[in-house]
Amino acid sequence: MKLTHLYSAGLLILGSYLAQAQDHRFAVDNPKNPEVTEYWDPEVRVITPGAIPSDAIILFDGKNLDNWESAKDGSPAKWKVADGKMTVVGKTGNISTKQKFTNYQLHIEWQSPIEPDTRKSQGKGNSGVFMQGMYEVQVLNSYNNRTYRNGQAGSIYKQSAPMVNATSKMGEWNTYDIIYTAPKFTVNGGIDTPAYVTVIHNGVVVQNHTKIQGTTEYIGQPLNPVHGPGPISLQDHGNEVSFRNIWIREL
Ligand code: MG
Repeated sequence: MKLTHLYSAGLLILGSYLAQAQDHRFAVDNPKNPEVTEYWDPEVRVITPGAIPSDAIILFDGKNLDNWESAKDGSPAKWKVADGKMTVVGKTGNISTKQKFTNYQLHIEWQSPIEPDTRKSQGKGNSGVFMQGMYEVQVLNSYNNRTYRNGQAGSIYKQSAPMVNATSKMGEWNTYDIIYTAPKFTVNGGIDTPAYVTVIHNGVVVQNHTKIQGTTEYIGQPLNPVHGPGPISLQDHGNEVSFRNIWIREL
């Protein structure tokens, strides 16, 4: 037998011995067994990532408002759809998704209209994205347009200013990626756990797990009505703000 063969055989025997020792050392009930803390089931659900993840629900693909309705009375949404985007038609009111949601990851793109400098502050490119129809992440043309800090683009309206102003130039598109956790209520109508929201504006974190204090009122303090799942709503503030590429993943 060649020396190399002897050497190989030796390695095999040693390997088998070590494997047995390993088995012994890592018995199932041995707390030092690394497998004690390894969980295999149920297997993590596989999705296909990409610009739109495979498990996303498409809320607007640029073609029609079939997934939307008037927030006020549930009649067909009356905003304009053209060129792959939907645009606010003033005085037709807010629109809401027909479907209701609780916890989710939402992607939405918005564009401020080209408006004259005579339009200022809250009057310039104002719209909004409402979590569960009642908590507004502000949409505003905040490019070279000062307003109160807790009312500019990326704010939780009148509650929490964005950490930075990442707004695109007027006429260019913005993205919001929003991670939302719905509030939970006690049986007595109190808050068990508040709502939280993370907002990424044009790839920049502007709200980091921000606590939502309640409804985002124009006048007065936030309210905390007990509620269940709610729609995504978009605001008609009279400015011709456009939206496109809206999708959501329930969490
Ligand atoms: Mg607004």
